[in-house]
Amino acid sequence: MNKIHDKDMNTHDSLPFTHHPLIDTHCHLEMEQYDSDRDEVIKRASGQNVEAMITVGTNIESNHRVLALAGEYENIYASVGIHPHDATSATEKIYDEITGWSRNRKTVAIGETGLDYHYDNSPREIQRNVFAKHLELAKNLDLPAIVHSRDAKEDTLSILRDSGISKGVLHCFSGDSEMAEKAMMMGLHISFAGPVTFKKAERSREIVKLIPDDYLLVETDAPYLAPVPYRGKRNEPSYVVLTAQTIADIRGVILDDIARITTINARRLFNIGDIPRKGEIAYKIRKSLYLNITNRCTNCCSFCVRTQKNFVKGHNLRLSHEPSYEELIDAIGNPADFREVVFCGYGEPLLRLELVKKVASWIKSKGGTVRINTNGHGNLIHKRNILPELAGIVDSLSISLNAHDKETYDKLCVPMYKDAFQGVLEFITEAGKYIPDIKLTVVETVSIDIEKCKKIAGKAGAGFRVRKLDTVG
Ligand code: SF4
Ligand SMILES: [Zn+2]
Repeated sequence: MNKIHDKDMNTHDSLPFTHHPLIDTHCHLEMEQYDSDRDEVIKRASGQNVEAMITVGTNIESNHRVLALAGEYENIYASVGIHPHDATSATEKIYDEITGWSRNRKTVAIGETGLDYHYDNSPREIQRNVFAKHLELAKNLDLPAIVHSRDAKEDTLSILRDSGISKGVLHCFSGDSEMAEKAMMMGLHISFAGPVTFKKAERSREIVKLIPDDYLLVETDAPYLAPVPYRGKRNEPSYVVLTAQTIADIRGVILDDIARITTINARRLFNIGDIPRKGEIAYKIRKSLYLNITNRCTNCCSFCVRTQKNFVKGHNLRLSHEPSYEELIDAIGNPADFREVVFCGYGEPLLRLELVKKVASWIKSKGGTVRINTNGHGNLIHKRNILPELAGIVDSLSISLNAHDKETYDKLCVPMYKDAFQGVLEFITEAGKYIPDIKLTVVETVSIDIEKCKKIAGKAGAGFRVRKLDTVG
């Protein structure tokens, strides 16, 4: 076992650095391109905070080398399979071999499998059979499949669908948004590699924007497809940070966010390392700090991520208990370190009005900026106008308008109160009198008349933002 700790000696000064570990979910470290300096390459990845690398077998020979490497290095994991280029070499016997290799404790996936109609190195009929067999194996072995698909959208999707597989990844994704959506509906992840950094990759960058956090992975596909500025040179796992940085830029978050999100996804999909089990009460996204003070809410929105999953941008938000004032102060640290401190999380913060007031006053006294993300039910909950109580201690309010009329609101949000929509409108009007900055938000869903919502915001003198479905914060 070859344990690597040597961080300082092996970092690239020129590469961006993230404090959150990254996982390169697809590389080929077993290939001969690394024969002269493999150990250095692996050390550089560790120095760049790449906590794990999945090296992916492509033919019989390479699978043996993949397993040997995974045995040698603690942070290298194996995927075993036959690449579509080599599909003709797959005999019936190979499936017993793959099954045997899959029992290795470091094997985390089946692949590289799939279809490549661009090079057509193996006849298509054979590629399809071998692909289907790999998926059947992955399903039976309960392992994710690592899928390569090039110029073969329809056949890839139909074979995936027929297989009934629900765990896997479309690696180095080069398809269109429809393909990504259909794959995600089957439960598959979408992984991006160096090409998203290329100058002429507008189409890929558009797709990068569309993938919900939960489905996103990063990889290098090293030694191929090195990201800019190493395009054309040999790629290596430490460069995964460049792809992550580009994805962060495209999605309007920071590198740490993409590292956290994709690493949690990779750990869960490939069953590598630890998943945070405890809910976080204070969590960072971009340059802001978010406070998660309750998981209760007076709405039950059909689009609420709270009811579907525990994680938001790689943070576990499922609280084991509602935090106290002391716990929050402790978790915040120095409020002035953040662009703003936001009461948000998985629930309605104004249910805990007294706590919000106390913590907000403390944040202001320390030179911080306070925002509350609320469903606008504060006055309904407390049966009085609470807005004067927030004056001077809250800088901005983001209020979920969520609908353009009562009927739509009741259907979408299933509120606890009969006249909730009217209550939200009144809350918005009152908020304008006491809080300097008000923004109304709606979630992008078909049943909402965005233009009407925008008008409501305009009339109230408030800002307006359309949120993506899975976005908290
Ligand atoms: S108001 Fe927000 S937290 Fe409450 S149910 Fe709706 S989306 Fe979820
Ligand atoms: Zn590959």
